[in-house]
Amino acid sequence: MNQETNPSLKATDELFREAMQSISTKKEKMDDTEDGPPGEFLLDGKTGKGVTIHGKPVILWYAKSVLNMNSGFLHKHLCTGPTFNLGDACAYCCPYCYVEAAAHGRFAEFLKQHDLNFQEVVIRRQNAVEILRRQLAKLSAKQRDFPHVVYSSTTVDVAGNVELAKETAAACTLILEMTNWEIRLLSKSNMLPYLVSLIPKKDNYHKRLILGVSTGIPCSGTMRWTWPFWPTGTS
Ligand code: SF4
Repeated sequence: MNQETNPSLKATDELFREAMQSISTKKEKMDDTEDGPPGEFLLDGKTGKGVTIHGKPVILWYAKSVLNMNSGFLHKHLCTGPTFNLGDACAYCCPYCYVEAAAHGRFAEFLKQHDLNFQEVVIRRQNAVEILRRQLAKLSAKQRDFPHVVYSSTTVDVAGNVELAKETAAACTLILEMTNWEIRLLSKSNMLPYLVSLIPKKDNYHKRLILGVSTGIPCSGTMRWTWPFWPTGTS
């Protein structure tokens, strides 16, 4: 049955068009590709030494936003427009990764200054969950109530280690509390069940999660070494 013959499908389609028109207004677009000022290396509060994840130094980036209401991932049917990203460079090292190219050199100067390349660092967005809270609060009630599917992440793995899984769980809990949305999480980590365990089960929150797992390549170890012999498109 198509939308011409099914009234509820037709109503949903009209609602969706209306919501997307509203997103494309300046007020609600909130693109997460805006530049923030240069970042800094994250230091351990106790030792004063630089924090690392899977051996990579962690950089905090002063991004202006986390939520992108009008991402290109609508066309991949992964979401209804919104995506959220808590970081910009991943804990993994997949050789096929497109994220550096998609960053359009945003971090190139900073990394050059420190003699590092993109795959040698983890970049996190400073106060990411708080920025997300502010962005969600600014959305209209229509957008918050619309049955959107928000997708994460287009730039990093959502559960690269315990700390990152905790941060993603906090962001998801916030979205579930403040909106009517479903959340699609795609990960290459075996920590996805741990991430979900950190999200409260109340109010059917877990039923609003769509989870996917694929194969990722760590920065060292056997999987890394065997990568050149794998068929393409393994992810
Ligand atoms: S897990 Fe995804 S974002 Fe991370 S390196 Fe691999 S392809 Fe890139």
